[in-house]
Amino acid sequence: MSRISGRQILFFGNDERKMWFGTGEGKRMQHDGDRAQERREMVEQLMRYGIGDPAILEAFLTVRRHLFVEEQYRSLAYHDCALPIGFGQTISQPFTVASMTLLLKERCPSGKVLEIGTGSGYQTAILHVLGYRVCTIERIAGLYQEADRRFELLEIPVQRRFGDGTLGWPDQAPFDAIIVTAAAPHEPRTLMSQLAEGGVLIVPLGDLGSQQMTVICRKGECFEHELFQHFAFVPLYGREGWSESDE
Ligand code: SAM
Repeated sequence: MSRISGRQILFFGNDERKMWFGTGEGKRMQHDGDRAQERREMVEQLMRYGIGDPAILEAFLTVRRHLFVEEQYRSLAYHDCALPIGFGQTISQPFTVASMTLLLKERCPSGKVLEIGTGSGYQTAILHVLGYRVCTIERIAGLYQEADRRFELLEIPVQRRFGDGTLGWPDQAPFDAIIVTAAAPHEPRTLMSQLAEGGVLIVPLGDLGSQQMTVICRKGECFEHELFQHFAFVPLYGREGWSESDE
């Protein structure tokens, strides 16, 4: 059983709409310091927090988180904190990403995963490195476009789509796992219906201030629930999420 504790720390920064992959960015990124030592220190901290799965730790060593945040935040990229990615959204805290990945991997070691809330694409990249076939949906056009450009640049071959993720991806269903990286007000029934037999949905459920990490496993027409620690995520908006007027 996973040992999960702690809270996602959110920094709500400015709404930075500028696109940071301008001309020559790919070349510049290659010459950026690799920050391998910072990544090792982040992984050591994840281990101290109870993340022990070697493949997950290896994925956190492999994926260069500093390439998923704007240049001004790169020096903070390996601190265990969430960071602004523009449009009022955040890249999740490394511990949060590791915890959700661990919950997923323990129950679904391989297969097809749907991620709701692409954001920066960091969680997507971690899942890809772990060998999952990843589909991901983002509802904010600017974030979708930035993530799309980043996936191209970093050669991360994932299926991605712009739209309301609460409706899932019927053409790609069923999924062995679905991971929701934003706070849902209630069980997302449409996503549950797109799980394969034995598939798992990992979703933070609760109010806008605090949510309990919940794992829902499909057993035929029944769904089993497991509850874990509390976190604080940005809202899941959409037809089966919050409405913009709820805030
Ligand atoms: N996985 C992301 C990462 O690694 O950067 C985390 C991003 S953030 C915590 C949550 C994301 O969920 C935001 O980008 C937000 O726009 C997105 N989101 C919220 N509601 C959504 C919906 N209905 N469909 C798709 N994405 C949604």
